[in-house]
Amino acid sequence: MDALMPALAGLLGLVIGSFLNVVIHRVPRAESLVRPGSHCPNCHIEIRPWQNVPVLSWLALRGRCAGCREPISVRYPLVELATAALFAAVTARFGPVPELPAYLYLTAVAVALTMIDIDVQRLPDAIVKPSYAVGALLLLPAVLTGAGWTPALRGLAAMAALYAFYFALTWIHPGGMGLGDVKLAGLLGLYLGWLGWSAVIVGTFAAFLLGGLAGGVLLATGKAGRKTAVPFGPAMLAGALLALFTAGPVAAWYTGLLLPASA
Ligand SMILES: [Zn+2]
Repeated sequence: MDALMPALAGLLGLVIGSFLNVVIHRVPRAESLVRPGSHCPNCHIEIRPWQNVPVLSWLALRGRCAGCREPISVRYPLVELATAALFAAVTARFGPVPELPAYLYLTAVAVALTMIDIDVQRLPDAIVKPSYAVGALLLLPAVLTGAGWTPALRGLAAMAALYAFYFALTWIHPGGMGLGDVKLAGLLGLYLGWLGWSAVIVGTFAAFLLGGLAGGVLLATGKAGRKTAVPFGPAMLAGALLALFTAGPVAAWYTGLLLPASA
């Protein structure tokens, strides 16, 4: 595959990232995603189409509202660029397969939920719950065009397994995990299970590794105390995305450790 498809996916990612900025701002406030149109949160001036071009408008406006000159956070273009980079990488990883739209959807959901969890320490049901159905629907074409039911059933089994595992954690260590994390775990299980059990295991290990690292850094830098609730969703989502790219090589390496004679 040449670079054209990832490049086009990157452009799509810029546009989707721009929409995700709206999702990240409005879903926690239970506001409509379509009405009213984009406006400055400070002076409420309507944002015109030319001021709404991903990244470029922010640069052209030098990071300030055209109406009130209030600074526009650099995180808006950063969310757009991150979504673009992830869309390009996921497209390069999967190539033109029927599963690609499902994993691009997962990527978009991961960006939105990461930012919302950091902002308000919640993983809104309004995003997580429909994503189960959307994920299943987007994977269906792959089932019907050759992948068969085996990966789909493995996805459902991993969905149930991760849901149960995280639910058990909320009992063992109350206050550590929330029900939002449990519901997200099931969703990630569906996507990772489709790819294989190694992806489920790598994704879960990576989540706890990244969560522990982030917690340690926040403690060490004084950004969090021992009692501060550090959101775990971003670590789960980052671990899952990491597993998309690394599960195959990691599984091969680990199998090689266990069975050196067969190598
Ligand atoms: Zn303004």
